[in-house]
Amino acid sequence: EEATRYEALSVDTLATRLGDVHEVASRVGGDSASWEIREVGDGNLNLVFIVTGSVGSVVVKQALPYVRMVGESWPLPLYRAHFEYYALVRQARRDPGVAPEVFYFDKAQALIVMEYLHPHVILRRKLINGERVAGLGETLGRFCARTAFRGSELSLESPEKKQDVGLFSGNVAIPAITESLVFTDPYFNAEMNHHTPALSPVVERLRGNATLKARAQRMLLKFTANAETMLHGDLHSGSIMATDTDVRVIDPEFSQYGPMAFDLGMAVANFLMAYFSQPAHRLDSDLAAYQAWILEVIEACFTSFDAEFRHLWQTERTGILFPRALFEDQGHESEAACDALLEEIRQDALAFCGIEMHRRVLSLAHNADFEEIEDTALRAGLEARNLLMGEELVVNPAAYSDMAALRKLAKMHN
Ligand code: ADP
Ligand code: MG
Ligand code: MG
Ligand code: MG
Repeated sequence: EEATRYEALSVDTLATRLGDVHEVASRVGGDSASWEIREVGDGNLNLVFIVTGSVGSVVVKQALPYVRMVGESWPLPLYRAHFEYYALVRQARRDPGVAPEVFYFDKAQALIVMEYLHPHVILRRKLINGERVAGLGETLGRFCARTAFRGSELSLESPEKKQDVGLFSGNVAIPAITESLVFTDPYFNAEMNHHTPALSPVVERLRGNATLKARAQRMLLKFTANAETMLHGDLHSGSIMATDTDVRVIDPEFSQYGPMAFDLGMAVANFLMAYFSQPAHRLDSDLAAYQAWILEVIEACFTSFDAEFRHLWQTERTGILFPRALFEDQGHESEAACDALLEEIRQDALAFCGIEMHRRVLSLAHNADFEEIEDTALRAGLEARNLLMGEELVVNPAAYSDMAALRKLAKMHN
């Protein structure tokens, strides 16, 4: 009984609490009293420890019953760790080798023990530093396509899908955060908002655009009502860890059922924010080449999403949607249906992308790409470009499904 009551771990108690757990002890090795334990959580919400012994290292992640960056005044249910675990297990099945492997899960303790990614670092840091990652867009596009397709009724049997939607519908607190912080708060004077002061005229203009706000709410309707597939739900560049040649995706605690375009749009938005923030982080001599590389990564995200989705469409359509029997002797019709669906996903991804570009500058949770720019006049100028491109993507996504048009738009605002 004692062991099942939730208690937050600390560097002092972790070895005693987990030293007898075989799945942990066997991978760390040696006497647990000699384990080296470091708390490394840099996120907004949870405790994260790296535990090292004579055999190796593991990561221990534990939810706290409140929002870490705000404090106990903002409670947040521990059960989000359960959904993070469910999501990690499903991602491992749907795109093996991208999510960290899970070694142990303790539901009552809201605790996940997983593979220690090393020497990987958070992608956002690499982008600020101007480092390149081989295969970045390809891996992310493929991850988004595989998880989108294989988590949907294009692949799953209807009963299995419905049961899983039922399971994930228990997660009510986390979607509520995304619904307000991402889709709504940026567009009015919400309590927890903050922005760089010099940006105010652009913010006024944005909030005066009723078409933009209506479009953002239409995207929120899609987000809340379309249980198309299991999403990662928070696929920003702080949820991606990389070496120069390997790309991994962590932290799916915002996982929920939603539109197939959502994760792709979030990821692309974070590349565009990296793009717009670059003039503050690079010398002029490196700037153009690095920004061009970021646009190539975005193109690769889309290209690889489409290619993988089309491949799965042709080879793994085992669910209730678009059954083969329906298109007998009309194979080309099925291909045309796939193309149309991909075009719809692309446009939705661009609209979600624009919204993410707005909320990271206007709502509660900002990102380091802009926040670390100390010259606030410079920062405001770069954030303004990002906001204006985001506005165009939310209002008029159909004009940018072609990469040449998207590239032109980014360069026009840069
Ligand atoms: P939060 O949900 O609080 O944002 P994250 O899962 O993003 O927590 O983890 C916070 C930090 O801990 C990450 O930015 C990363 O530096 C580190 N981290 C998390 N998971 C791993 C892992 N599997 N391997 C190595 N480092 C990790
Ligand atoms: Mg995180
Ligand atoms: Mg800011
Ligand atoms: Mg998280």
